Amino acid sequence: MAKLILQSVLFQGKKQDILISGKKFAKVGRPLTERDWDKAEVVNCDGLAIVPPFYNGHTHAAMTLLRGYADDMPLQQWLTEYIWPFEAKLTAKDIEIGSRLAVLEMIKSGTVFFADMYWHREHTMKVVEEMGIRASIGVTIAENLGTSGRIEENMKFIRNHCHESERVKLVVMPHSIYLVGEKLFKRCAKVAHEEGLVLHTHLSETIKEVRDCKKQYGCTPVELLDRYGVLDDNLVAAHCVHLTQNDMSLMADAGSAAILNPCSNLKLGSGVPKINQMMDAGILLGIGTDGASSNNNLDMHEDMKLVSLLAKANGRADALPAGEVLNMATAHVAMAFNVPAGVISEGFLADALLLDLKNERLNPLHNLESNWVYAADSSAIHSVICNGKFVMRNRHVDGEEDIVKEANACALEIASR
Ligand SMILES: [Zn+2]
Repeated sequence: MAKLILQSVLFQGKKQDILISGKKFAKVGRPLTERDWDKAEVVNCDGLAIVPPFYNGHTHAAMTLLRGYADDMPLQQWLTEYIWPFEAKLTAKDIEIGSRLAVLEMIKSGTVFFADMYWHREHTMKVVEEMGIRASIGVTIAENLGTSGRIEENMKFIRNHCHESERVKLVVMPHSIYLVGEKLFKRCAKVAHEEGLVLHTHLSETIKEVRDCKKQYGCTPVELLDRYGVLDDNLVAAHCVHLTQNDMSLMADAGSAAILNPCSNLKLGSGVPKINQMMDAGILLGIGTDGASSNNNLDMHEDMKLVSLLAKANGRADALPAGEVLNMATAHVAMAFNVPAGVISEGFLADALLLDLKNERLNPLHNLESNWVYAADSSAIHSVICNGKFVMRNRHVDGEEDIVKEANACALEIASR
């Protein structure tokens, strides 16, 4: 098994040698023996610190192609006049090119995993495999998007491909309560359970969704999922902006996780999630960026800092300290999607960021965690490791110039179609 030693890397306040064996952390915080050093690749990490990388709990990777295409307008107009007509022109090849730009951006901003929802998912899966990171790729199920005919095809895809790859897993993704009815939602949950896959959906994103749900069903979207019997510890729900106290108790009791996407929610004018109340209720909270069309980037660091600041708004400066919000952007998302990673610890998958301690935003070094969460940005990331291998080294990713060039040409060509 390949061995990698990160020599003299700053971890928990002191310089250490960390051994990675194959895809896992094998020795952390213990002295290495002569046998450990034998035939190992040694990387001198003097001047570097190790921290967990980001796990993006909700995004639409290929939507990087729509970055900056339409901004500053209400959700409905944005969708119907700009986003949906652009998306209608996308081919499988376009989605592959957009996904490649997205994965490049994620790696460069320290993300090694994302939960995705889009079309032509096999092309996104191929890109993730090639570029060396992880993903839980959503098989999108929707009844009212002109895609009803694809439901059987999608269910078959889930059965045939769910355990195909080590780094790329599937998630069953009924789009939302407004695009998937009771019978189909229950079927999605059943398939997810049978195949050991996570169930991922959009939930309580806008006031309109909640109002329409109350009008149609006489209850909130969370209560509706509870009524369907699909609110359990296998459910990971994105957004959760407009939860009632009862919604929060239901989700906490069921063990369902929520993924906060504050940049996208604020930019689309959807609102601010009740972060403190959700935490107090005991819901497992993770963070995601949502798509680059509404964020407008895939930088988890920005969303992480924003979650922390939003929790402190309204006079609660002591809410959500740096270490806790960092967990939300790392270990919590990994846990929600059943990836044994997000912690620099023996037995966990060897995913990590090496931070450049010379970066101006990491100095002076009173407190690395504070500097990383509150002061720094992705320019402090020197290298990125996923599954025991470097996917970015000294800020370089293989083929990055070509990826950017190809995505730019592709997006401009789609706009002129
Ligand atoms: Zn979404």
